[in-house]
Amino acid sequence: MATLISNGRIFDGVSVISECGHVLIESGRISKISSQQPLSPPADCVVVDATGCTLLPGLIDAHVHVFRDVQLLETAIQYGVTTVLDMHNEREWFKEINVITRQRNDVSDLEDRISKWPNLTDKNSIEDCIATNKAAGATFTKLMQEDGHTMTLPFPERPVPTPSLEMQKMVVDISHENGMLAVAHALTNHSTLQVLRAGVDGLAHASIDPINDEIIQAFKKDNAFVIPTLAIHASSSGEEQETRDKFASDLQGKEKEHLLGCLHITSDKFSIKNVYEQVFTLKEAGIDILCGTDTSIDLPGTRAGTSVHHELWMYVNRCRFTPLEALVSATSKIADRFNLSDRGIIQEGRLADLVLVSGDPTESIDAIGNIRTVWRNGEAVVRN
Ligand SMILES: [Zn+2]
Repeated sequence: MATLISNGRIFDGVSVISECGHVLIESGRISKISSQQPLSPPADCVVVDATGCTLLPGLIDAHVHVFRDVQLLETAIQYGVTTVLDMHNEREWFKEINVITRQRNDVSDLEDRISKWPNLTDKNSIEDCIATNKAAGATFTKLMQEDGHTMTLPFPERPVPTPSLEMQKMVVDISHENGMLAVAHALTNHSTLQVLRAGVDGLAHASIDPINDEIIQAFKKDNAFVIPTLAIHASSSGEEQETRDKFASDLQGKEKEHLLGCLHITSDKFSIKNVYEQVFTLKEAGIDILCGTDTSIDLPGTRAGTSVHHELWMYVNRCRFTPLEALVSATSKIADRFNLSDRGIIQEGRLADLVLVSGDPTESIDAIGNIRTVWRNGEAVVRN
């Protein structure tokens, strides 16, 4: 069925292209966009009057862990998050979840995943692992560079042993040879520099150390991106309790408890304030910032969808982004860097994964919470 969204402001994922525009959805895709002249609706078309509202591409969370938690996808889409990137899952669970995302439009779509902790010892084992992941549908590899330095967890060994630069380089190169991106977990400047030296395309977290010029130059060298995950940094350090409280205000019971809970695993030497400065400075230096939260059922202090709104709020209110820059980080920027060429931008021919909110989130990021309608593949999602 066709849908015509009329008279709304259109943020296409890059900029505001119209203050009173019109978008026609046909067969699950955006078929026509007019920034001025009204479009005439085809027969049997649902017409949505978007006066006073803003139409955006569906938001993307570039860092979640779905595991087997379908509810994460059901909840995320209620907040306008139409795609999530899974930063590692088990192969079997990914397959199971992927069947569901193909059959149902009332859940967020799932892109990619990396599976089981492999025991990589040499080039052959890396090639095997990446080939198996690729065959299972992965389009990126996630590397771990974690020595446990920032955490108070009782690791059996300190520092936790990390892979050699040579191994990490091989993982990156073999991923690239297979047409896959390489994204790395690192939490400190030291680990971040290691994986950037190995040639990764981007970081799955921002570092919690004070930013310095070496880091900026290392990001610039290969144009690497960063997914800040302020939501999980805040949970790890136990900071931002009041703002989690604000975003939990309409929740109840276990869900509220989960969002208000904290991991509290960051050593007192570190503060999320370093991360804010890191993210602001990298953004100012022209490094791509991709919105991601690390939301998962296992990680208190996060919640599907809600944490994306919280993350965007922190980009604006803590990292000095304009609301527009924050929204770009959750739409076109992710689509561009992860080669998701069918979404992330309101453009003729792309999937009709869209969000309509009242007010103007490009002026005030709080308006992203005023969701009126979410469409996935052109189908309006029933609001809970
Ligand atoms: Zn993660």
